[in-house]
Order: sequence, then C-alpha cells, then structure tokens
Amino acid sequence: MIAETFKNSARILSGAVIAEAIKAEVAEEVRRLEKNYGFRPALTVVRVGEDQASAVYVGNKVKTSAELGIISEHRHLPLETSPAELLQIVEELNNRADIDGILVQLPLPKQIDESAILQKIDPEKDVDGFHPVNVGRLSQGQKSLVPCTPAGVIEILKRSNIEIAGKHAVIVGRSNIVGKPLAMLLLQENATVTICHSRTTNLAAMTSQADILIAAIGRAGLVRGEHIKQGATVIDVGINNVSDVELARELFDESELEKRLATIEKRGFTLVGDVNPKEAKAKAANFTPVPGGVGLLTVAMLMKNTVDAAKMRRKLN
Ligand code: NDP
Repeated sequence: MIAETFKNSARILSGAVIAEAIKAEVAEEVRRLEKNYGFRPALTVVRVGEDQASAVYVGNKVKTSAELGIISEHRHLPLETSPAELLQIVEELNNRADIDGILVQLPLPKQIDESAILQKIDPEKDVDGFHPVNVGRLSQGQKSLVPCTPAGVIEILKRSNIEIAGKHAVIVGRSNIVGKPLAMLLLQENATVTICHSRTTNLAAMTSQADILIAAIGRAGLVRGEHIKQGATVIDVGINNVSDVELARELFDESELEKRLATIEKRGFTLVGDVNPKEAKAKAANFTPVPGGVGLLTVAMLMKNTVDAAKMRRKLN
C-alpha cells in the first residue's frame, strides 16, 4: 500500500494554543470595555429542539462566554416551536438594547426555514456572519461580522506564520458557512483561490496544486496523499464520527491508532476530519489535527465577534 511508504513529517498546528491566545485577548478587551465604558458584551444563543450535538456546542459557547466575562443567555425552545414563535423571539432580541450578539444554533427543526430566520437577525448582532448583509459586506471587502469557522482558519494560518499572499489556496467545499466565506477571506489576503465541490472532475488534479489546501467536505478521510502537494499546508475543517474499525486503521498511524480504537470501543465512535491524517502528515509541511484543530477556533472567533459587534454597535474602537 502506498500509505505504508509515507513517513511522518508535518508540523502539527495546534488549534488549542491559538484558541487560548485569542480567548485571552478577548477577555482583556472585555475588561477594557467594562473599565472604560461601563458595559460587558452580551450574547444570546437560541437553541430549538433536542439535537445532542447542538446541545454540546451551545453548552461550550455559554461556558466560554462566562470564562471571558461575556454575559450570555441560553434560550432553549421546544422541538415543536413554530416559525412565527421563533421569529418573535428574534425580533425581541433585535430590539433589546442590552444584547450585542444573537446566534440561532443550526440545524433547526424541519418546520422552520433556516434562511428565513437568519435573514431576520439584525445584521449588527449577527455574530455568526450568515445574514446576507454581512455576506455582501464580506464579498465587497467591507468591515463585517465574519463567519466563525472561516475566520478561525485565517487565524491559524496567520498565527502559524504561513504566508497567504501570492499562494494558491484550494478549498474543497462551497457551503455558505465554510467554503464560500473562506474563499472571500483568502482573496482579501491576496491568495489565488480555487473552490472545488462534488461536481469537480479530477479533484486530485486540482488539490495537488495547492500551497494551502482546505478540506470542508463532511466525508471522513476523503483527502488522501494523492490530493496533497509535497510541502503543502493542509487545514482540515471536517468533523465526522467514525465507528468503523477498519476505516480507523486506514486513517491513523501507530502513534494514534490504539487510542482511537479505545475511543471507538468506549464511545462508539471517534472524531475524524475530511483528511486522511496518516497520509497528510507524511506529505504536508503543516497540518491541523481533528480534534484539536479548527474546531477549537470556532468558539474563540464567536467570542471575538460578540465583542466586535458590541463595539461596532456603539461605534467604539
Ligand atoms: P456542507 O455539507 O454544507 O458542504 C459540503 C461541501 O463539500 C459541498 O460544497 C459539497 O459539494 C462538497 N463535497 C461533498 N462531497 C464531495 C466530494 N466527494 N468531492 C468534493 N466535494 C465534495 O458541509 P459544511 O460546509 O457545513 O461542513 C463541512 C465539514 O466541516 C463537515 O464535516 C462539518 O462537520 C465541518 N464543520 C466544522 C466546523 C468546525 O467548527 N470545525 C464548523 C462547520 C462545519 P456540493 O456543493 O457540490 O454538494
């Protein structure tokens, strides 16, 4: 097997270290705002229904807010909440002067049209950066609230001293929450950007030209050695649950396999990205792990967006 000829070499880019640095900066800014202007930024997270992953994500957001001094409120609504009821809550939060950020946790139950709800959030409080006004501002290079995961990818690159300007960045995935906004951010940083998706013919021919390769697909280990240029930076946004022991054996080298198999046995699955880590570590110069990579940045950037929203609303620097 080709994979067996690979040898580990990549620098592992720790999301934990970078996320902690950003959170420390946010906490400092919250203290400064309170001292100089007498307020602390406030975030409301709205969750509808009982999706288990959403419950964990929201719990994390509320806990991190508290750690950084951001006031947070969690509104948990029943699964059968109607679109009108949710819209009314969004309206109420839009009108509350004490709330700086509103986040409606996705996915929403099937009776609710997500985009209709997201469009009702006041763009100035849209800390997820999904409102069309913020999407438009981002694409025109204006100051805006930027989606958290793509913003986190840029922070990882910059804070790891990876040059973006003039480099060829290839993104696999064109979703509104990751691929498209990330393309805009990379363009702003003067990368040459290619976006691939499920209809791209010969994916490897595209991705293997990338100096910076970003996978945001939702398919465990889809990006393999053949997709990666020797010495590239590989950023893995994907989060997938893998319970198949054979697949785990293909994805992990001896340094990790035993731990992963134990996790599958204990929890029924292990978290895996969209990139085959064994093969990426051998070919890439820099690589983000899953877990412990981009995922940790998402919450940190949400905190930063909440503080930015609070300052923008009050026209503070
Ligand atoms: P979506 O399902 O919305 O988009 C997936 C994209 O991948 C689509 O553009 C799709 O193409 C493309 N795609 C699917 N299969 C292939 C294939 N075989 N070859 C090439 N492209 C393909 O996913 P998201 O953008 O929401 O999320 C992507 C991943 O990132 C997921 O694993 C998700 O869990 C993770 N994620 C992680 C976050 C974090 O905090 N780390 C936050 C958000 C997401 P097409 O458009 O043609 O269908």
